[in-house]
Amino acid sequence: PVFRDFDILAVFRQIVAGYAPPDAPYTIELKTDEKEINIRADQEQIKQALSNIIQNAIDAGEGKKQIISINLTKSVKNNREILTIAIRDQGKGITEERQRLIFVPYFTTKKHGTGLGLAIVQRIILDHNGNIWFKSEPEKGTTFFIELPLER
Ligand code: ADP
Ligand code: MG
Repeated sequence: PVFRDFDILAVFRQIVAGYAPPDAPYTIELKTDEKEINIRADQEQIKQALSNIIQNAIDAGEGKKQIISINLTKSVKNNREILTIAIRDQGKGITEERQRLIFVPYFTTKKHGTGLGLAIVQRIILDHNGNIWFKSEPEKGTTFFIELPLER
């Protein structure tokens, strides 16, 4: 990875703009109290990770109307500043049996899926000393949470 300083909020805005065709059945909301969020990270890898999660959220909607909401929050944990990213969809959710499999390489429930998206995301987040987890309720939706350490 190539670690550099950049504003991850600007990167989010870029990604969200790239996923906003006017005729899409979903809308994506980006919410934060911050004006900028500076992080030291591999920008391309972070983009890749966020895009994979957003794409899964879109797929989970199966073409139905849904709001995908992204929340960015800064906080302090053990004296260190961290960023928490929550990406929530209103899609089909993940059944309990499948929940332990979603990060496993090549696990997919999609006709043309690779099953590699989340394995890559997990790898990238761990390379950045972050954490990733999720909560899901079948028929209601899924939220992915990512914590990343912020530079100080
Ligand atoms: P792929 O998208 O190619 O199937 P991923 O690794 O990105 O591979 O995801 C693995 C599987 O996890 C998906 O096939 C799907 O079953 C499940 N999954 C991931 N994200 C979501 C989500 N937001 N909602 C419902 N299921 C999901
Ligand atoms: Mg995927």
